[in-house]
Amino acid sequence: MAENLERLKQRIPLLEYLQRHNWKPCRAGARQEFVGLCPLHPETRPSFYVNAAKNLFYCHGCGRGGDLIRFIQLFLDLPFRQTVALLQQELAPAPVSRLLEETAAFYQFQLHRHPEAIRYLGQRGLHDPTLIEEMGIGYAPGGNLRRHLAALGYSFDLLLDSGLISSQGRDAFCHRMIFPCRQRGQIVNLYGRSIGAAFPHRLLPRSKGGLFGWESVSSFSTVIRVEGLFDLAVLWQAGFRNTTCAIGTQLTPAQLSQLAEQSRRSVYIAFDQDDNQAGQKGSRQLAQRLQGVGIRAHIVQLPHGHDPNSYFVAGATAADFTDCLERAQQL
Ligand SMILES: [Zn+2]
Repeated sequence: MAENLERLKQRIPLLEYLQRHNWKPCRAGARQEFVGLCPLHPETRPSFYVNAAKNLFYCHGCGRGGDLIRFIQLFLDLPFRQTVALLQQELAPAPVSRLLEETAAFYQFQLHRHPEAIRYLGQRGLHDPTLIEEMGIGYAPGGNLRRHLAALGYSFDLLLDSGLISSQGRDAFCHRMIFPCRQRGQIVNLYGRSIGAAFPHRLLPRSKGGLFGWESVSSFSTVIRVEGLFDLAVLWQAGFRNTTCAIGTQLTPAQLSQLAEQSRRSVYIAFDQDDNQAGQKGSRQLAQRLQGVGIRAHIVQLPHGHDPNSYFVAGATAADFTDCLERAQQL
C-alpha cells in the first residue's frame, strides 16, 4: 500500500497538479521552491510554499501542509481513501468515466418507461422535456443495472468499487431520480434523489466535482447559488440559467475558487427557509466566506418555509422570483 502511494505521488507531481488547478507561483526563491496565494484559505499576500523536489507544501497562513494527497483532501474536502481513488482515476480515467456514462445513459432510457418517475418530476415542477433531456435526468427502477452493465463487459468488482451496486449486487440508486454531475464534459459523479421513503440524497463515494453546470454558468457575472438540483432545475426552466449548485450548503475550496475566478462577481444565495434556521445560518456563513474572497454576496429571502423548488411548485412565476432577487439583502 505505502509503495503504491509513493508511486502514485511520483506520477503526479504536486506542482504540476497545483498549476493544472490554476495555482500561480508568484516567485521562485531557492531552487525548486515556489510561493503563491494559498488555495485553501483567502489571503492577499502569498504564504503557500511548494517544494517541488520534495513534493511537499506548507502554508504559513493557515498552518497546513503535507503531500499531494493531503492537499487534495483539503482542497476537495475528501476522505483519504476517496482521494487515493481519485488520483488513481486521473491516471487511468477511461474505465470509470465510461462506466458512469453507460450507467447514466441506462437510467435516462429508463425514465420514460416508468410513469412513477415522470409523475415525480411533475410533482417537483419539472415538465420541460428539452431541459430534462439536456440535464440527462434519469431514473433507477432497481433490479436491472447490474445485468445491463455485466452484459457490456464490466466486472462485478468494478461495479462494487464504484459504489453503483451493493455487495449483494443491488442497484445502490434504486427508486431514485438521477442527475449526472459533469466536469469538463465528463461525468464525475451521479446524484440520486429518492422518490420514496429512503434517505433523500445519495452520491457515489467520490468527488462531486466542481459547481454544477459550471461550463455554462461561469460566463455570468451574477450567479444564483441554490442547495439542491431540483431548485436548480426549476430555475433553469424558468430562464435563470445563471443558477448553480454544490449539492448542499457547503463549498469546497475548489468550488469557492471557481466563484472567485471572476473579479467583482455577485452571488445570490437562495437556500431553504427552514423552521430550524439551518438554511438561514448556512446562507450567512457562505455570504461571509464569499465576501472574504472579494465576491459581493446577497441573501435571497423566499416566503417562509419555501425553497426555490417548492416556491415554483406552489405557483410562483419568474417575475415573483425576480422580485425576491431585487429585495435580496447584500451582506
Ligand atoms: Zn493557507
